[in-house]
Amino acid sequence: MSKTPALKSPVAVLKGVGPWIAKRLQKIGIEQIGDLLYLFPIRYEDRTEIKPLGELSPGQKVLVEGEVQLTEVVFRRRRTLLSRLADGTGSVTLRFFHFNKAQQEQLVRGACLRCFGDVRVGPTGLEMVHPEYKLISDGSDPPQNFLTPIYPTTEGIHQQRLRQLTDQALDIMKTTFPDDCLEGHLPEDWPTLVDSLRFLHRPPRDSVLEELFLGVHPCQRRVAFEELIAQRLARVQSRLNRVKENAFSLEDKSKFIAKLRAKLPYKLTDAQELAISEILADVAKEIPMHRLLQGDVGSGKTIVAVMAVLAAASSGCQSGFMAPTELLTEQHFNNLKRWLEPLGIEVVALTGSIIGAERLKILARIAEGHAHVVVGTHALFQQAVEFKNLALMIVDEQHRFGVGQRLELKRKGKKGILAPHQLIMTATPIPRTLAMTLYADLECTVIDELPPGRQPVNTVVMPESRRLNLVKRIREHCTTGEQVYWVCPLIEESEIINSQAAVKLFQNLKKALPELKIELIHGRMKFNEKEKIMRQFRDGVLNLLVATTVIEVGVDVPNATLMVIENSERMGLSQLHQLRGRVGRGSSSSNCVLLFKSPISELAKERLGVMRKTSNGFIVAQKDLELRGAGDMFGTQQSGLIQLKVADLIRDADLLPRVIEISEILMRDYPKNADQLIKRWNKHTSEYAYV
Ligand code: ADP
Ligand code: MG
Repeated sequence: MSKTPALKSPVAVLKGVGPWIAKRLQKIGIEQIGDLLYLFPIRYEDRTEIKPLGELSPGQKVLVEGEVQLTEVVFRRRRTLLSRLADGTGSVTLRFFHFNKAQQEQLVRGACLRCFGDVRVGPTGLEMVHPEYKLISDGSDPPQNFLTPIYPTTEGIHQQRLRQLTDQALDIMKTTFPDDCLEGHLPEDWPTLVDSLRFLHRPPRDSVLEELFLGVHPCQRRVAFEELIAQRLARVQSRLNRVKENAFSLEDKSKFIAKLRAKLPYKLTDAQELAISEILADVAKEIPMHRLLQGDVGSGKTIVAVMAVLAAASSGCQSGFMAPTELLTEQHFNNLKRWLEPLGIEVVALTGSIIGAERLKILARIAEGHAHVVVGTHALFQQAVEFKNLALMIVDEQHRFGVGQRLELKRKGKKGILAPHQLIMTATPIPRTLAMTLYADLECTVIDELPPGRQPVNTVVMPESRRLNLVKRIREHCTTGEQVYWVCPLIEESEIINSQAAVKLFQNLKKALPELKIELIHGRMKFNEKEKIMRQFRDGVLNLLVATTVIEVGVDVPNATLMVIENSERMGLSQLHQLRGRVGRGSSSSNCVLLFKSPISELAKERLGVMRKTSNGFIVAQKDLELRGAGDMFGTQQSGLIQLKVADLIRDADLLPRVIEISEILMRDYPKNADQLIKRWNKHTSEYAYV
């Protein structure tokens, strides 16, 4: 008799895993059977109840059963297989555009089918296009009693196969258990690891659906907790590894900093001064700095970073200054040139649109070490960009950059021997417990004050029904020459639907305001097209810009003094705050109008009230955590650096203090468990980045 497989056995021993599937599984980090248990569903579908055909309505996703009445192939615009299904209460048409002979023969009159799919209105009544279906013997086969898991799609492996594989893994888990690395550290009344895993893969139909969909079922919380601990452990480990690396020691020997300071038209704030001294102390060490500089929009992070660049130049080393878009690159390049060239420091820009001989010339300046500062977009990461002695990398608005790119950066350090210091700047306020978990590998500096004299953005909350008044107000506003952003945020998961909403709004506004110059940018437009329009807006050619939330982070258009945000009740407060930061950058006062669709809940009202009352990003972020609600859907997005599988930073924020406490204990007393958790949770990461 062959030995029964264990969770540690290779997946190849499972039924249905040939070399081809094994290879694909390996690609997403699944080698042992137990790894399958940590491939979590991204959502669930309810296929536990068979819906009578007479009760269907369009837009539903349902499980139905019936007998085939008639199947025929019709030729209209394209060859189509139509099959009529009835169950005594009503009927529905199944429509297939792609089908084969075998399928056609299966769907004979009298065959019993169970189908799952979307119901829509067709030319002859309700229909389902390409439903999932299977033949059943006589309708007595009971539907499954658990919700159907949908796994992250993996190239070449279908949902059905993934279910089959996880079925087998769950079966093995009846006799052998995965190690519970948190044993003894969780409250008594929490579910066990085995029960939790089982639940996540096959939630029973009687489970509290609402809890499940919100992700707050105790089993989900148990697993989310483990994930957060694993993430924190991984960050701490990477920090421990980093301090073993070597870096240039940078000091401002030429007194560049004092020279620039003397020329600035303003006095640095205390918070800026403090940040500068922390950063300079860091880069003076021979250990690579890895620091996060947080500061609200407009708090003056750029000049702080420039001081570190001066220390590098003063030590004869190069710096990179990375921005997420060409437009921002241009903005930084102009500022840096203005500040640094008088000191004899050469600044060059490198973006995707600088090509040909010009590019080669710049690359040579960089490779030979003449260019001290290179400002650029992702283009800085390209293989062709070789630095002579890169010692410092500034990354502006970190959430646009991936982990792989940061690794590449390390490689670009001095021949791979000396790692560059890194300063990562962000305007996204990150509450402390969160920073201690997900940014445990970074030191944090916070600029917690704005330069004096800034006028807070006056924020009003307005029901959509007053749109006509608003349009009138915009017309008046634009006659003064000031500009307007009208933002159509991401309220659907799909950028397609979202862009459509923006297009419609754009057309309506053009009709309502024919005398204004209006343009539109959204996420599905080509990069160059977006940049062109942003540039026109910056240069004052446009009065009004309609945009989805692709609207550029960090772009300075001081003349834009009014922002309208659609569907604000459905957005996270921190995100609203980010958007609002696009106005209020000049000397005249600015306004922000938060439109909402009535009726809204008390909670939503309170949340929008926060926006009206405060302009402090940290208070906004804190309130966002406290007053959960619509903001939840942006939780994972805001975390930026790390893609979480089960946990959600906003929803599970209350777990964080305990996560910190227990991970400390594990590191100190149970290093083996800590190791195992890190490995277990960092296998499938890349897959989730795309779902
Ligand atoms: P952010 O932190 O959003 O990147 P910036 O660095 O772009 O902010 O600075 C925003 C604006 O504030 C710039 O025009 C900059 O010149 C100005 N600024 C920076 N520091 C000060 C200061 N201490 N006093 C007055 N203005 C300042
Ligand atoms: Mg900035």
